[in-house]
Amino acid sequence: MLTSLKTKLKLTDTQAVLMAKHAGIARFTFNWGLGVWSSLYSEGLKPNALVLKKFFNNHVKPVYPWIKEKGICQKVTQYAFDHLGKAFKNFFSGRTCYPKFKKKGQHDSFTIDASGRPIAFGGTRLKLPTIGWVSTFEGLPPVTASSFTISQEAGNWYISFSYEIEPKVTPKSRDFVGVDLGVKQLATLSSGVVIANPQALRKARQQLAQLQRQLRRKHRGSNRYRRQKLRLAKTHQRVKNIRLDATHKATSYICKNHAVVAIEDLNVSGMMANHKLAGAVGDANFYEFRRQIEYKAERYGSSVVLVSRWYPSTQLCSGCGKKQPMSLGARVYECSGCGLKFDRDFNASINLEKYARMAKPSLDTEG
Ligand SMILES: [Zn+2]
Repeated sequence: MLTSLKTKLKLTDTQAVLMAKHAGIARFTFNWGLGVWSSLYSEGLKPNALVLKKFFNNHVKPVYPWIKEKGICQKVTQYAFDHLGKAFKNFFSGRTCYPKFKKKGQHDSFTIDASGRPIAFGGTRLKLPTIGWVSTFEGLPPVTASSFTISQEAGNWYISFSYEIEPKVTPKSRDFVGVDLGVKQLATLSSGVVIANPQALRKARQQLAQLQRQLRRKHRGSNRYRRQKLRLAKTHQRVKNIRLDATHKATSYICKNHAVVAIEDLNVSGMMANHKLAGAVGDANFYEFRRQIEYKAERYGSSVVLVSRWYPSTQLCSGCGKKQPMSLGARVYECSGCGLKFDRDFNASINLEKYARMAKPSLDTEG
């Protein structure tokens, strides 16, 4: 199975400039392609990435010598057309909006490869095609990868790649577990385990709010404004990293130790559209959590039951099964039937576990 890794690069100033040049060429190529595609499309024609790429290589590249400058990996333009093709494919299938032009400094990235040949590496150094040796802060696993995406976020450069790993089935301490994802807590498990949001996250968020307030007082376009923007971007990045790290720890723990994981099949895009919930949901990282649960279950040999989002896990009493309405703010479930009194999320997690037991009775060794 494939897994992927993204880690921060440790670059010299010269290397950072080189990365920025590559990202600039990728952006230029993508935008050129998007411009031509759009004008052909508006005339009722159906262009494709391959045709545009050929035209670009033969007629456009020669006009812009900086694309072919020494030290620039020419794979960048090829991948820019691949990305454009994918963007249109997603658009035509209704998954995304019409592709947008890329702006400098926003999601700067590019992809390169060694013409299909895998590159072996490990430790804190790897040799990229044309670009040469680069270092990473963290040690890399001793693996091979055939393509690399390099991206810039908040002034730092990152490398990401996919590689093959062997699934590693772990002994399970429990058959079934229901996982209720929350805003207050990261996750509440029907085993009684509560995985809290990291303290550092709260602090970083407070800092973020403060930086945002300060930014509003600065003059747009001034040096102070730009510096503040960068500080803000770095803090955003930190919030993202803390959250991602906590999510990784939680999903590894869940998939390593439980044979069947029941998790709600949340309609995240629908929830994002609902403005009231958007902030909280986006924050809590639900989509990423579920994505990780799904691939880690495969890795550690557990299975996932996606519980329909119409299943009223928060409204049912996990003791007697009675259904009663629950207001959004109520933190405790108090059953008017049997008198059970549980934390809202814990009650929901037990219901999710029950659902999984019904969905996969053959795996239920307890009865
Ligand atoms: Zn009850």
